[in-house]
Amino acid sequence: MTTPRNSAVGEQRRAKSTKAAKAGKSITTSKDTSASPSRSEAQPAPKAEPASKAEPASKTKPTSNAKPSSGGTRTESRLALVRRARRINRELAEVYPYAHPELDFDNPFQLLVATVLSAQTTDLRVNQTTPALFAAYPTPEDMAAADPEVLEQLIRPTGFFRAKAKSLLGLSAALRDRFGGEVPGRLKDLVTLPGVGRKTANVVLGNAFGVPGLTVDTHFGRLVRRWKWTDQEDPEKVEAEIAVLFPKSEWTMLSHRIIFHGRRVCHARKPACGACPIAPLCPAYGEGETDPDKAKKLLKYEMGGQPGQRLRPPADYPGPPAAPLGAAE
Ligand code: SF4
Repeated sequence: MTTPRNSAVGEQRRAKSTKAAKAGKSITTSKDTSASPSRSEAQPAPKAEPASKAEPASKTKPTSNAKPSSGGTRTESRLALVRRARRINRELAEVYPYAHPELDFDNPFQLLVATVLSAQTTDLRVNQTTPALFAAYPTPEDMAAADPEVLEQLIRPTGFFRAKAKSLLGLSAALRDRFGGEVPGRLKDLVTLPGVGRKTANVVLGNAFGVPGLTVDTHFGRLVRRWKWTDQEDPEKVEAEIAVLFPKSEWTMLSHRIIFHGRRVCHARKPACGACPIAPLCPAYGEGETDPDKAKKLLKYEMGGQPGQRLRPPADYPGPPAAPLGAAE
C-alpha cells in the first residue's frame, strides 16, 4: 500500500501569534469514572458520553483574550473539562498547523520499522539512521533475509540494537510469511508482530493508513496529566480516557499537536510556561519558568530557531531540517 509521506500533516492555516498570559491556579476535575470505553479492532472506540454533544455551540475567544482560570481549587464539571480540552486542541492546531509525525518514512513498512527503532531514543537519531537501513533493505523480504550482524551495525546508533534487530528480523519475517509482505492495517494484526505494541500500532494506523488513533507516549501522558484531562498513568487507560473527550477524527492530529507541544514548550523538567500559548487554559501554569524572557530561551526546535527532527520535513514545516548522521548537530 502506498501512502503519502506526510499524510498526517495538519491544516495549512498559518499559526496565529498567541500571547502567553498569566494563568490561574489549580483546577480539579470531576472525572467521569463511569466512562468505560469499548474498543473496536483498529482503535479505541469508547462508548462514553458522546463527545459531539459536549461541543460548545459558540466559538471560543482566542487564547490571547482568554481569562486566566480563577484562583483557588474548584471542581470542573465534565462538560467544562470537555470544552477546555477541545479548546486546548483548537489552540494547539493554530500554533502547530504543521504538526506531523517526526519520523521520516515513505511507506507503511518504513514507518513501522522507524517506530520500532524510536524506542528509547530520539526521532532525530532514527531519522539519521534509517536512510542507510532502508537503502539496504527496502522490503520486508529483504530485511527478513538480512545478516543479523550487518543489521545490528546499521541500527546501532539508535541504541538497544541487538533487541531491535531481533524485532526487525521477526516482524519482517512475519510480514513476509503471514501478511504477503504487506503491513496489515488492523490493530489486532499489528500487535502480533514482534516489537510492536499498541503505541507503535496506533502510530502506523494513524499515519500510514488514516485510521484514527491516539499515540500515548511520554510527552502525551505528561501533558494530559498536567492539563487534568486524566490522572491515569497507564498508557492504555490514558488512551481510553482521552479518547472520549474528542471525536475520533481528531485523534491522530491531536496526538501530533500534544507531542509537538511537549517537545517544544511543555518540557518534562522545565516547562516554558511564560512562553506558552495555552497558559490561560492550563491548570499547571507555574510548574515551569514563568518569566517570559527566560521561558523563551527554553523553547526548542522551530520555536527556538533550531533544526527539527526530520531530515525531510513536510514542505510547510517552518524550521530547518535536521542534519544527517555525522554532521554537526
Ligand atoms: S508550559 Fe505546560 S505546564 Fe506550563 S502553561 Fe504551558 S502547558 Fe501548562
